[in-house]
Amino acid sequence: TQAEFDTVILGAGAAGMMCAAHAAARGGRVLVLDHAKAPGEKIRISGGGRCNFTNMHCGPHAFLSGNPHFAKSALKRYTQWDFIDLVARHGIAYHEKTLGQLFCDESAKLIIAMLVEEMAKVGAELALQTEITSIAKAESGFRLEVAGARRGVISARNLVVATGGKSIPKMGATGFGYRVAAQFGVPVTETRAGLVPLTFDQDMKAEFAEISGVACEAEVSCAGAAFREGLLFTHRGLSGPSILQISSYWREGEEITVNLLPEQDAFTALRAKRQENGRRDAALVLGDLLPKRLAAKKALSLGISGKIADQSDKRLRAVAEDLHRWRIKPIGTEGYRTAEVTLGGVDTDALSARTMEARDVPGLFFIGEVVDVTGWLGGYNFQWAWSSGWAAGTEIATR
Ligand code: FAD
Repeated sequence: TQAEFDTVILGAGAAGMMCAAHAAARGGRVLVLDHAKAPGEKIRISGGGRCNFTNMHCGPHAFLSGNPHFAKSALKRYTQWDFIDLVARHGIAYHEKTLGQLFCDESAKLIIAMLVEEMAKVGAELALQTEITSIAKAESGFRLEVAGARRGVISARNLVVATGGKSIPKMGATGFGYRVAAQFGVPVTETRAGLVPLTFDQDMKAEFAEISGVACEAEVSCAGAAFREGLLFTHRGLSGPSILQISSYWREGEEITVNLLPEQDAFTALRAKRQENGRRDAALVLGDLLPKRLAAKKALSLGISGKIADQSDKRLRAVAEDLHRWRIKPIGTEGYRTAEVTLGGVDTDALSARTMEARDVPGLFFIGEVVDVTGWLGGYNFQWAWSSGWAAGTEIATR
């Protein structure tokens, strides 16, 4: 069959659905295509099934991009407050978990239902289980060949690429959007796994085995970035929010610095303990400050034994230095298999920051994760999907 639309959106994820709900608002014919069985699968599994849909502290500071200014316009024109307002209008209950992160009280499925309803309200169509077999430039727009549930030829003046990144290939992530970009001569920056656990080599795995499962609060830093959140030692390496955050800044060959006591001065604390009760075992004293198993490992690796009273100031200073600036050199990351996002993507230099349209290909838009804009952990990536989807959608509606 042959069909004509004003706009075809590739990908019924967070960005694609948001875009559709606005692109069709003034009567334009909009079709959203997706190869998956259901829309918004990543929304469904996000935030442990509760979807951390935005962050109250959202702002350009929380994004990585080749051009740190690129995200500003969209984030400013469609803010976290606009999305919170939409969620509230749909009667979806939510709460702040920590650090401004907003989650649904009940289920992420409510966010998907909300977006599907917003699309239906303006008459945007959704075609699932549909594969895009070819895309070509046509006289006035684009011509697509599609197969599957909705097969045939589709033409549209505007084409929006919202197919996301490469993370979680098990869920159908393909890197398709980067290939569309390449086909139209739109540059793509190097992509890599972000918000992902860091891994150890065999020797380090053995060395850390005794503390696998230990969790603590820490400040982890690398390459000028620092995050104070939970840290988890796993049997493969390091995980927890602070590690996922720093993974977006870390590069192969670099060390990360872990401050195990970001809230207090370790030297002062240790000296006070020595003053308090000098007869206590120094290793046990460490256990007052750190999780027990971690303290035991530290005592061993720092060669601490005997009474705390027997530890000189110099010794305590060295221990404190190690607790505040523990350097660890991971070997790699767990990769796209478990990464929450893809760093890099469609080069922002090639896009309009206001509309997300490719500068050299009128009518071709890129939104969401496929673009070289990556947020911190904490609802920022969805906010980018909403803001960039809104920016393209509202622009398309005026055409
Ligand atoms: P997606 O939501 O990934 O949507 C892309 C769509 O395109 C999909 O429906 C896919 O099926 C479709 N598609 C892909 N290739 C093709 C193709 N070739 N043909 C047709 N269709 C195609 N971010 C947060 O802000 N908060 C969270 O709580 C959070 N939790 C997460 C938990 C997990 C486990 C993961 C993996 C990610 C999480 N993220 C979270 C990140 C967030 O899910 C993404 O940043 C966001 O979904 C990106 O939106 P998008 O619309 O660009 O892409």
